[in-house]
Amino acid sequence: MTKAYLGLGTNLGQKKENLEKALEVLNSHGSVQVLKVSSFYETDPVGYENQDIFLNAAVVCETSLGPYELLDFIQEIEKALKRVREIRWGPRTIDVDILLYDSLELLDEPRLIIPHPRMVEREFVLVPLSEIAPEMVHPGTGKSIALLLEELKN
Ligand code: AMP
Repeated sequence: MTKAYLGLGTNLGQKKENLEKALEVLNSHGSVQVLKVSSFYETDPVGYENQDIFLNAAVVCETSLGPYELLDFIQEIEKALKRVREIRWGPRTIDVDILLYDSLELLDEPRLIIPHPRMVEREFVLVPLSEIAPEMVHPGTGKSIALLLEELKN
């Protein structure tokens, strides 16, 4: 069993319901058990700014799925929630990213990069993640999530 750390974001439709639905589908998989869910955080859009604010959350789950199987599954969740992806970094019903998969470092661009390459520079990822896993060490930098967040804020 592995602990996987996921980031979720939504800025279309009923955002709270979108996150709740994604969590429900995630937990409904026989090989995935959601252990912790962060609070839901309202955040300003990054990258493409002419869009509605986001609601973000992080989850820790225990899973026997391998990283690629987990990626397939989260992409099914995105499809099931009818994600609209016309503009890169644009509006989306739900976006699910694999942030960390235990201490695995994996680089198989463009399909899967773990740790998620942009997580350390994104407050909307580190704030919810540090709520549920402050001590977790980011294998790329060797720093805890709490420290990465502190450094980003300064
Ligand atoms: P985005 O629209 O920014 O969420 O990017 C989605 C694409 O990023 C998908 O095609 C994935 O195959 C790829 N990807 C690479 N690394 C990851 C990761 N750690 N978690 C989720 N998607 C990833």
